[in-house]
Amino acid sequence: MNDCIFCKIANGEIPAEIIYTDDNITVFKDANPQAPVHVLVIPKQHYDSAIAVKDNSVFANLVAGAVKAAHDLGLDEKGYRMVINTGEQGGQTVNHIHLHLLAGRNLGWPPG
Ligand code: AMP
Ligand code: ZN
Repeated sequence: MNDCIFCKIANGEIPAEIIYTDDNITVFKDANPQAPVHVLVIPKQHYDSAIAVKDNSVFANLVAGAVKAAHDLGLDEKGYRMVINTGEQGGQTVNHIHLHLLAGRNLGWPPG
């Protein structure tokens, strides 16, 4: 995906505050944080959304990456939220699947 902003972050074409990367995923700070901790976990490979993922190892890598990032950020004790907005009513605005990791305050439920 040539003009995908998250592909460009994953391949280093545009800057982001990257906090973890490996062969499969990149974890970086959200540019418009909705909580004291707000990072995004993306696969390096492009998928438009969760709907486009056919290989469950992609989901496993996202969730495992978020759990590892949360641990490394010291969030285990107080907890955190993981969210994958999907499609129009799901609130997805960037069409490269991403998992939000949110923490650092009491998060409301239900979401807006
Ligand atoms: P969503 O609404 O679930 O698609 O989330 C997209 C998220 O990407 C939003 O929280 C944005 O703040 C974030 N975002 C968009 N562009 C960038 C960027 N260049 N660097 C970091 N975060 C971004
Ligand atoms: Zn992409």
